[in-house]
Amino acid sequence: MAVLEEPIKGVPMIKNYIDGEWVESKGEIIDVVNPAKNETIAKVGISTKEEIDAAVEAAQEAYPDWRRTPAVARCRYLFRLGQLLEENFEELSRVQTQEHGKTIDESRGETRRGIENVEVACGIPTLMMGDTSEDIVSGIDEYLMRVPLGVFGIIGPFNFPFMIPLWSAPYAVATGNCIIIKPSPEVPISQAKIAELADEAGFPPGVWNVVNGEKSVVNGILDHPDIVGLTFVGSTPTARDVIYPRCGATGKRVIAQCGASNMMVIMPDCNIQGTVPALMTSFFGNAGQRCLAGQNLIVVSEDDGFYNEFMDAVTATAKGIIVGNGLDESVQMGPVKDVQKKEKILSYIESGLKEGAALRLDGRKPNILGGYPDTCFLGPTILENVTPDMKIVTEEIFGPTIGVIRTKNLDEAIKICNENPYHNADAIFTSSGKHARQFQYEVNCGNIGINLGIVAPMAFYPFSGMSGSFYGILHTQGKEAVRFFTESKVCIHRWL
Ligand code: NAD
Repeated sequence: MAVLEEPIKGVPMIKNYIDGEWVESKGEIIDVVNPAKNETIAKVGISTKEEIDAAVEAAQEAYPDWRRTPAVARCRYLFRLGQLLEENFEELSRVQTQEHGKTIDESRGETRRGIENVEVACGIPTLMMGDTSEDIVSGIDEYLMRVPLGVFGIIGPFNFPFMIPLWSAPYAVATGNCIIIKPSPEVPISQAKIAELADEAGFPPGVWNVVNGEKSVVNGILDHPDIVGLTFVGSTPTARDVIYPRCGATGKRVIAQCGASNMMVIMPDCNIQGTVPALMTSFFGNAGQRCLAGQNLIVVSEDDGFYNEFMDAVTATAKGIIVGNGLDESVQMGPVKDVQKKEKILSYIESGLKEGAALRLDGRKPNILGGYPDTCFLGPTILENVTPDMKIVTEEIFGPTIGVIRTKNLDEAIKICNENPYHNADAIFTSSGKHARQFQYEVNCGNIGINLGIVAPMAFYPFSGMSGSFYGILHTQGKEAVRFFTESKVCIHRWL
């Protein structure tokens, strides 16, 4: 199949979007690399303190008028943005593939889910309604309004450059706040494209800002006294060591959604034909770089006959996965994002082997369709004889690997799930309603799949978690995002 045309040409400089203007950063300039070709496709600056301050100042200035804009009128900007995103759907999807490496179909799925968040946020006049009680005491009424808070930061990870900031941004602005998006420096182009469309949709200057950079910029946002809160999606160490302590110290509200090492539990009564393709998406989709990705497979069976039949089907299908440039529509798995991430995944495979695991399928030197450089590519890898104490279970690999654990019964499998601090999304494959119910009831994680490997909540459900040992109260997406981006103001009115 032909390779689709690349939308990013000529190594453009990705600018900041501050106060409705495109401004080139005066900070250090770094490369944005397409991992499929190991080629620089754009440049981006690490914003300076002055640039962060300018964005916060613009957002603060825009806030009073934006807050006073009726919710239905704020929604009209979002309707326009949603329409523009739809009109540019294919280009936006190709940008994600070019800057991240994922397959074009994965990017199209990401674009769709991002737009759905804009659509859900268009319901804000109803979603942010308050409550009223008449005569709490005779002649006195009490009511609650949900009000915006001010300026929020939105910090994105590298693995979903388009969608993840949209888990927060539409709800933040729809509720009357102003935002500063800080995308991952590895993938800044998608958010620049969205900001171009937000500009075209006519958002007043200062409402929607994008400031690029890495940890120094996150620190600038965390320490800025005029930022009231932030959403962060990224790794557990960053959340644990930086985001939570700094937000605590500066009194900012925060949602932090973190890392994952998820379990897929296979019961001997599962439908093998339906299960295997779901596992391929779960373990190898997005080259395993997904907080909902399966990392370990728990096969609940002491019967070698079932185990071998099942694992033969998994191995044969994994072996057939076509690896290459995601802009080639016949490719089923793209590269990982960069060479450091590839090295990290390889070191986890080595550590698994050292700890006693055995290779059933070795993806360390894959065939790459189209002869692209092998810098960032890996193929599907399957490791057997894995035990729950191994690093390849207790730590997040974030790559296209399956670690297979065998257990005697479901109770033991559930125990393994619950003892893993990073199980963000676990799934069971079974035809037994009883087993499904027990799993759903007893597994303590935020996203549960029953005969499904990727449990990505729709935009009107929270993107739940409990991952990385952090039990956040609220999550991005839907009503929980509305709750996060608003404060309850309670008024008691005595009618004199
Ligand atoms: P990361 O923690 O390295 O970076 C996330 C963001 O924080 C980036 O914008 C980055 O610039 C910034 N950052 C990095 N180090 C920092 C530091 N020391 N101080 C301040 N800011 C810092 O994460 P990543 O590698 O970009 O993303 C992958 C991680 O995100 C994985 O762990 C994955 O599981 C997780 N993730 C979680 C969810 C979820 O909803 N639970 C969704 C997607 C990704």
